[in-house]
Amino acid sequence: MKLYSTKSPDKKVSFREAVLQSLPPDNGLYMPEFIPQLEPDFLNRLEDYSFQDIAFKIAHYFLKDDIDAESLGNIVVDAFNFSAPLISVDEGIAILELFHGPTLAFKDFGARFMARLMNYFWKDSNDKLQILVATSGDTGGAVAAGFYGLDNIEVTILYPQGKVSKLQEAQLTSWGDNIRALEIKGDFDACQSLVKQAFLDPELQESLQLSSANSINIARLIPQSFYYFNAFRQLDANSEIVFCVPSGNFGNLTAGLIAKRMGLPIRHMIAATNINDVIPQYLETGIFKPSRAKQTLSNAMDIGNPSNFTRILDLYGSTWNDVKADITGYPQTDEDTIKEILYTHQKLGYVLDPHTAVGMLSARQYKDENPHSTDIIVLSTAHPIKFQSEMEKNIPFKIPHPTMIHQYIGKPSHKLVMDNDFKQVKDFLLS
Ligand SMILES: *Cc1c(COP(=O)(O)O)cnc(C)c1O
Repeated sequence: MKLYSTKSPDKKVSFREAVLQSLPPDNGLYMPEFIPQLEPDFLNRLEDYSFQDIAFKIAHYFLKDDIDAESLGNIVVDAFNFSAPLISVDEGIAILELFHGPTLAFKDFGARFMARLMNYFWKDSNDKLQILVATSGDTGGAVAAGFYGLDNIEVTILYPQGKVSKLQEAQLTSWGDNIRALEIKGDFDACQSLVKQAFLDPELQESLQLSSANSINIARLIPQSFYYFNAFRQLDANSEIVFCVPSGNFGNLTAGLIAKRMGLPIRHMIAATNINDVIPQYLETGIFKPSRAKQTLSNAMDIGNPSNFTRILDLYGSTWNDVKADITGYPQTDEDTIKEILYTHQKLGYVLDPHTAVGMLSARQYKDENPHSTDIIVLSTAHPIKFQSEMEKNIPFKIPHPTMIHQYIGKPSHKLVMDNDFKQVKDFLLS
């Protein structure tokens, strides 16, 4: 399949080019030239398939001209070696747990698939591929874990000083080898802006094989649509469904919109945000007004200028009325988020992380406003243990400990501290 840039729909590139290049030279975003339609028979028989079967089937639709079926099958099996269970928690609300991967957040799905795809596309090259990625917390860890140990690929991660949790930091800095962590004295938007500058810098373009691993890379977006199908597979009744997605850069939600276009019967999408509410505001007013990111408890969603908004507009031909017919937005405060964590724990014995709590609150709000709604599935984007130090202050109970985290704790840190200064980052990359 070919992909086009949202800024110049007539110029098309191959999947390989889009994945390795990440961002088109005209600064738009890559989109698939068409969205494949799944046969109704496949959808009706979804329960006969495993998650890996579903992932392969969908990936094959997008990639059949670019990767042979056997290699793609191996990539899928290797990337998705963990589960995504649907847990019924409350009346009409279920949680899709997307945190069973190695870094305990949903970004493992996109990052692991992308790493293997890039490795496949780059395997015959003599140069090193330089992956550059800005993270507000979870992306970097998932990308580091996804790429660690690959011979031909080097990863540089930029993260905002003092704005990621302790466990997140350990997941960024404990690797060494081909994974390099830069702690930037600035916020996430500053990190993202440094990465964007690097991609537009002629000298870096000239001397390095630069590529990105943010949610802007199409190879991260597509695998995120797989688990929407897998959620549907686990439902008892095949009715229409409402998904609620805790959102920051809106890659996850955009993947849901793509799943809907492929034929998954999604009735409605809920965009759950913290007070960084640029998209809920847009849905309300029709005006998209990026702003500075504000720091919150759900730090992976502290985004002032959500990059996938361009893709959402592209999917809907930039028609506000059509966008808001499919998506409702709710912004939530930290105070209400904490209340929701306490409430769900007390009433249901389930521990939400702050991001999922933002989703849960929004799902409850939607239910109140739409009493006859079909069931809602809230995407749980992270395990609560990732935010233990932030949650401890406000929460009187113990968070369950997955054994996975011991691989990060107490390892030496390999980070470099840098100012929010493009020249420093550039010199480092060229050194
Ligand atoms: C990245 C992240 C989000 C936001 O996802 P987007 O695709 O950027 O909207 C939400 N929750 C957690 C835990 C995350 O790591």
